[in-house]
Amino acid sequence: MNDRETEQGLRGQAKALLEEGKVNYIIGYEPGSLKFTTTPLITKDKDSVDRLVISPFIVNNLSEYLTELKGRIGIVAKGCDSRSIVSLIQDNQVKREDVVILGVPCSGIIDLSKVEGLVGKDRDEIDDIVWEDSKVTITVAGDRKEFHIGEVLFDNCLGCEFSIPQEYDILLGESSSLVVDKATSREKIETLEAMSQEQRWNFWEKEFSRCIRCYACRNVCPACFCERCFVEESEPQWMAPVPRWQDNLMFQVIRNIHVAGRCTDCGECERACPMNIPLRSLTKEMCDIVDDLYHFKAGMDKETAPLMTHYETTDPEDFIK
Ligand code: SF4
Ligand code: SF4
Ligand code: SF4
Repeated sequence: MNDRETEQGLRGQAKALLEEGKVNYIIGYEPGSLKFTTTPLITKDKDSVDRLVISPFIVNNLSEYLTELKGRIGIVAKGCDSRSIVSLIQDNQVKREDVVILGVPCSGIIDLSKVEGLVGKDRDEIDDIVWEDSKVTITVAGDRKEFHIGEVLFDNCLGCEFSIPQEYDILLGESSSLVVDKATSREKIETLEAMSQEQRWNFWEKEFSRCIRCYACRNVCPACFCERCFVEESEPQWMAPVPRWQDNLMFQVIRNIHVAGRCTDCGECERACPMNIPLRSLTKEMCDIVDDLYHFKAGMDKETAPLMTHYETTDPEDFIK
C-alpha cells in the first residue's frame, strides 16, 4: 500500500469514526504552510478529515496531544508514536478505551537538514523530493540528483526496531520497508563514547552553552507530562531560570532520568531544538542503558508496569556506588 492509498484509507476511517460518534476528535497530519512539511490537525469536523495526509514528512509525535484533550480521540500513530501512547497508558495518563489508534506502518521520515546538506541548498530552494523504492530524487532548479534513501532519513529512523505500530485499533496497511543502518544511527553516540571523560565534559559544556532554555525539547516530548516541571519549582528552586550551561546540563540530565523507560526514541526533542543540540545522544543512550540493564523497551506492553515503579530481585545494582 502506498502513501496515497494509506491516506485514502485513513480519511475514510477517520470520517466513519466521527460520523458514528466513536470519537470526539481526530488527531492527524495536514499539509504544512512550508514546503515539505506537515502540521498536526486536530479536528471534530468530519469534512476536515479530507485534509489528512500521510507522507515521509509526518514528523510530529502526536501522542503529545493526548493529555491535553478531553473525550475519545482517534489518533494517527507511527511505530514510535504508538509506543508513546502505550507508555502513557502504562503511566495512567491516558485510558486505553479513550483512544482509537489509527496505526500507520512507517518506512522512516525524511530529515530536511540532511537533504539540505546533500544538495547544499536551503529547503526553500528545493523544488521537489520524491521517494521511490530505495532512492530519493531531489530536484533543485531543474537539476535532479538521486541518493539512497538511507542518506536522508532521521538517525532515529535508521535505528528503528518497531516501525509497525505495536498497539492499534485499525492498521492502515500491513508492512513497511524500513532501511536500517544502525551504525549511522548510533554514530554520534559512539563518537562520544570514544572520548575521554574530560573531552565529553568539554563537548557538553560547549553544546549546553548554546541552550537558550526555551523548553521546546520538553514541551514536544510525550514522556514529559508533569503538570509542573521541576525547573519551574521555586520552593525549593532546583535551578536558576537563567540559561547557564551548568543548569542547562542539569536540566537535561534530570529530564533524561525522568523519561528513562518512557522514551521511545521518537527523536522529537532533538528535532525541535532551535539550537541543534544533539539531544538524541543522551536520550538514545538512556534507552540503550535501560534495555541493557533491565531488558525494558518503552511502550511495548500496556499491561506491564512502568520501569520506575517496580523492581525485580535480579535487577542489577552494581552501578550504585
Ligand atoms: S522511529 Fe521508526 S516508527 Fe518512528 S518515525 Fe522513525 S521509522 Fe517511523
Ligand atoms: S530545545 Fe534546545 S535550546 Fe531549548 S531548552 Fe531544549 S536543549 Fe535548550
Ligand atoms: S525524550 Fe525525545 S526521543 Fe524520547 S520520547 Fe521524548 S521527545 Fe521522543
